[in-house]
Amino acid sequence: MRLLNIHGVGDVRLDDYTRPRAGPKDVVVRMKAVGICGSDLSYIKIGGITQSGPTALGHEGAGELMEVGAEVAGLHVGQPVIVNPMMTPSNVGSGGPEGAFTEELLVREARLGDSILPIPEGISYEIAALCEPLAVAMHGVNRADVKPGDKVVVFGCGPIGLGMVIWLADRGITDVVALDLAPERRARALALGARAAFDPTQENLLDKLGELHGRETCYYRPAVGTDAFIDAAGAPSILSDVIAVAKFHARLVITAAYMKPIEFPVGRMLTSEMTITTAVGYPTEMPEVIAAMPRLKGKLETLISHRVAFDDVIEGLKLAATPQSAKVMVHIEGVGA
Ligand SMILES: [Zn+2]
Repeated sequence: MRLLNIHGVGDVRLDDYTRPRAGPKDVVVRMKAVGICGSDLSYIKIGGITQSGPTALGHEGAGELMEVGAEVAGLHVGQPVIVNPMMTPSNVGSGGPEGAFTEELLVREARLGDSILPIPEGISYEIAALCEPLAVAMHGVNRADVKPGDKVVVFGCGPIGLGMVIWLADRGITDVVALDLAPERRARALALGARAAFDPTQENLLDKLGELHGRETCYYRPAVGTDAFIDAAGAPSILSDVIAVAKFHARLVITAAYMKPIEFPVGRMLTSEMTITTAVGYPTEMPEVIAAMPRLKGKLETLISHRVAFDDVIEGLKLAATPQSAKVMVHIEGVGA
């Protein structure tokens, strides 16, 4: 067996691995599809997130139950399942001893509907493995508190931003503008239902959003008609830029991970009475994401830009770092298996 581990800054290896035996409260998942996440790449950049020893990677996984402990209720061997890493006591792929980039994943103290969620009929393992990033995206949208008729801007058209475009469209919010530097990513946002997409470094935000969402004034300052901004990009200028164009009572949700402090022009924000909040993880969203999979699977499939075999996972990490890619999906038993 193998496990993908970070050993130091930029040092990630597919190591030989012996899986611990499962106890009566545990299950073992034969992994089928595992997505590469932006956070995996950030962990590699900083050399891992454990105090000592390697960091095991992989938290976006789906597979088939191959062992079910005697005390685990409601699950059976052979069942196709999604692992909710946030609900695993060993924090799968985010600092704990287990990571989903392996052939056999031990899920400790597994519970149906909590850390282990059944995959609906007719849903492939790779669509199922999108559950985690789609749940992150849905939580960001939920925190934006939007309703049909609202005008929304999504910063960043990586897998999370694209997931947000999907959920906004699914909830009847049709006036969504997606921003990204990469033309390939903007094209994906348009295909998924964004009304317009542009490169915020090439356009003036006030002019371009004013054109698309309408022009307003806010205490004698020009503003745009955008109701909610969602930051899935993490560029240091976004907070200042949004504050500068926000209308009265606009909202901004920050879902991107900022590693360094950023400038916050709080004085300029006073007159807009705008709301700035954050969103992290997916405290409640996974069941709703899974329920929507049969309805949206055609759209969801387009989030996967590359498929690689487990042997080529290191190559997959490189692909995931390119602006052309969306979700890079690792097929543990080989592509087409
Ligand atoms: Zn993720």
